Amino acid sequence: MSKPQMREPIESGCPDGFQYMHPTMRRNFGMWDYHEDTQPGVMVHVAKNGDKLYTVKAGTQRILDVFTLRDLMDIADEYADGHVRFTIRSNIEFYTDHEEKVQPLVDALKDKGYAVGGTRNSVASISHTQGWLHCDIPGTDASGVVKSMMDELYDEFTNWNMPNRVHITTSCCQINCGGQGDIAINVQHTKPPKIDHSLVGNVCERPSVVARCPVAAIRPAMVDGKPSLEVDEKKCICCGACYPPCPPMQINDHEFTQLAIWIGGNHSNARGKPTFQRLVAAGIPNNPPRWPEATAVVKKILESYKEGARDWERINEWVERIGWPRFFEVTGLPFTKYHIDNWRGARANLNSSTHIRF
Ligand code: SF4
Ligand code: SF4
Repeated sequence: MSKPQMREPIESGCPDGFQYMHPTMRRNFGMWDYHEDTQPGVMVHVAKNGDKLYTVKAGTQRILDVFTLRDLMDIADEYADGHVRFTIRSNIEFYTDHEEKVQPLVDALKDKGYAVGGTRNSVASISHTQGWLHCDIPGTDASGVVKSMMDELYDEFTNWNMPNRVHITTSCCQINCGGQGDIAINVQHTKPPKIDHSLVGNVCERPSVVARCPVAAIRPAMVDGKPSLEVDEKKCICCGACYPPCPPMQINDHEFTQLAIWIGGNHSNARGKPTFQRLVAAGIPNNPPRWPEATAVVKKILESYKEGARDWERINEWVERIGWPRFFEVTGLPFTKYHIDNWRGARANLNSSTHIRF
């Protein structure tokens, strides 16, 4: 009997990035000497052997239509031999090793209306969590918040006029797969879910919903003779995790789903320890399509930071130096009872293991 033919394994996941790199980048991998910022949005990396690679960075609206992509790829073919990459903050970077192509590339991008910038001491493009494109929990349109705020922060993106780099993030639920940065705009549900008991028994798998709650606040219950669920509102932290597996437990609300702004988060430990962000403004209306109230708070924080910070101080370092009372004074943001974390439930209630507790 012939030996069964083994099939080739199917590779999945990210393809090897080296095949897509610019040849100068690939050739000098691990051999770079230094880099310089030559103008906003333009960097040159110099290798130990003298090779130079120029990067031109432009902002995009992230959710890209095919016409925009064609425009960008035509520019890439003409000036960058087709070598681009998208950054985590939805910028596009073009690469070329021809210095004479850099300025025409910048001009071509500007002619088409793209903002070139986002490097050094600028406000980088706002990053946002994946939102309604891929996730089932969103309480707001994070990409919409990003687009409307970046329209207002155009000068801060295209110039080097901040004390240091500013990373802003948004996230569309309270559980929050991102949303940590120098400034973070995060959605905030302020009321427990409302339950439509007539639908729960037909729509929801009750054990899945019970298991989904991080603080074990949901219990099975019989309501009007029908199987349903009930929420212990004293335990509920209004996270919004229960409505994706059970839409009749609706938590999104035009009044009670709001935005909160946090500042001072820093993942990096380059110069100091990483820091957690702190809440500075809560109860901001979640007001599409332009979110003017949230944008006004962000601009106020940026103006105060620009005015008061020393050169190269990040937002967390600036606040650390001047102190939180002074921060609230200079920004004019009100300090309220909502800024005080008095929630003591975490130790007893928060599911930090895989076991469900009742
Ligand atoms: S922040 Fe929340 S809703 Fe938004 S993509 Fe992440 S997990 Fe989903
Ligand atoms: S999943 Fe979140 S919103 Fe739903 S009951 Fe539990 S804590 Fe409240």
